[in-house]
Amino acid sequence: MPSEFALIARHFARFTRHTELGVGDDAALIRPREGMEIAISTDMLVDGTHFLANTDPRRLGWKTAAVNFSDIAAMGGEPRWITLALALPAANEAWVGAVADGFAECCSHFGVDWIGGDTTRGPLNLCATVFGEIPVGEAIRRGGALAGDDIWISGAPGLAALGLDQLLDRKVLAGEWQQRCRDALEKPQPRIALGLALRAHVHAMLDVSDGLTGDLGHLLEASGLGATLDQSALPLAGPLAACGDAELALARVLSGGDDYELLFAAPPSERGYLEDLSAALDLPLNRIGIFETRTGLRLALADGSDCPLCARGFDHFG
Ligand code: ADP
Ligand code: MG
Repeated sequence: MPSEFALIARHFARFTRHTELGVGDDAALIRPREGMEIAISTDMLVDGTHFLANTDPRRLGWKTAAVNFSDIAAMGGEPRWITLALALPAANEAWVGAVADGFAECCSHFGVDWIGGDTTRGPLNLCATVFGEIPVGEAIRRGGALAGDDIWISGAPGLAALGLDQLLDRKVLAGEWQQRCRDALEKPQPRIALGLALRAHVHAMLDVSDGLTGDLGHLLEASGLGATLDQSALPLAGPLAACGDAELALARVLSGGDDYELLFAAPPSERGYLEDLSAALDLPLNRIGIFETRTGLRLALADGSDCPLCARGFDHFG
């Protein structure tokens, strides 16, 4: 294993585009653009909890950056800078270098400067902190949903969880879906362009990392509302085609984790804008339910009845 300083020099000190001072001093220096405030978020990926030891290290690096960018997207912000703290057992340099390459690839893809971090020996753990810019006062929080707002979700929730089912040999997926679900799990795409385009159009938003119903529960709590989801409006077709099991597809769409899609509340007057935006971004946006004053979360079934849903997502200590 090379020294900490050799690792930093060879793998972590990367080219920056909009940073006053990057890797190499005691602290980095950044300067937000005129009229912007800084959104800050940290996400940690722990060996055995968030990824399996045999995960492709390049993809692991990508995902560590992507899940952090997703939190900035969920506020309607633009990620601009990121730091990475690494605890490494006696890992080999090829592995560390591949993690760094994947992390840097995601950073440069989304225009983010990697400006610092920390490197220590310890149980394998990757922890990044992202700094994003948002015009002062325009961040989209969790608490602004109104009764009568539509509930929208981007992309194809459930595919990442099916990818994990496949990885753990719990399910054999169909043909092309094997790779698609694996990619959804290992190479999530933060919805940054979507988040930016939603500013001034939506009342509340978050990114779905712990499952749709659980994360929707956070919006409901913050907004003091209940909601009804419409089963026939859920984007079930992809997951169903992937696994061929209607019950499993529904479970994964409603409560599978690791999707990093955006879930948001928008008034009905925005339906036209959102349909056009979906086409412009070539990204599905599905209107899956409605916020209500009646508390609790329900699923409206095709026969007109409804059943209660548990608005609780994954909890590390639950
Ligand atoms: P200090 O001892 O002052 O904490 P370090 O020796 O830990 O400084 O780090 C030296 C420089 O290398 C700092 O600029 C730090 O941000 C950077 N650095 C250390 N680890 C990483 C990493 N994993 N990714 C990016 N930069 C790193
Ligand atoms: Mg240090």
